[in-house]
Amino acid sequence: MSDCLFCKIVEGKIPSKKVYEDEHTFAFEDINPQAPTHVLIVPKRHVVDLKEAKPEDAELIGYCQLVAAKIARQRNIENGYRTVYNVGPGAGQTVFHLHLHLLGGRPLSWPPG
Ligand code: 5GP
Ligand code: ZN
Repeated sequence: MSDCLFCKIVEGKIPSKKVYEDEHTFAFEDINPQAPTHVLIVPKRHVVDLKEAKPEDAELIGYCQLVAAKIARQRNIENGYRTVYNVGPGAGQTVFHLHLHLLGGRPLSWPPG
């Protein structure tokens, strides 16, 4: 999508601190980190969000979780980390290209805010 921030990051048109890339996903450091590890894992294909997702997006949605687990292992934060899809403005979603937050490296309280 031409006017999508995360499509531009995936394409390298907007710079980011890349953490991981493969055929299906691109992961980079969040610009406003909420924890020592705050990485965004995005599918390269433009999917708006979870509520707009179609059955054919299911594998990609789950695959982002596996990429998060791989990054968490590499960063030695497996004692406790969180993966979050914010869905809708009421949950704090501001970018409408599906992205999985990986947060860790500090104690994470429950329930979240
Ligand atoms: P959301 O609030 O939609 O779940 O998450 C969007 C995230 O993208 C936020 O945590 C925000 O800090 C991050 N973000 C917004 N713009 C940029 C950017 O230009 N570069 C990077 N690396 N992160 C961004
Ligand atoms: Zn996009």
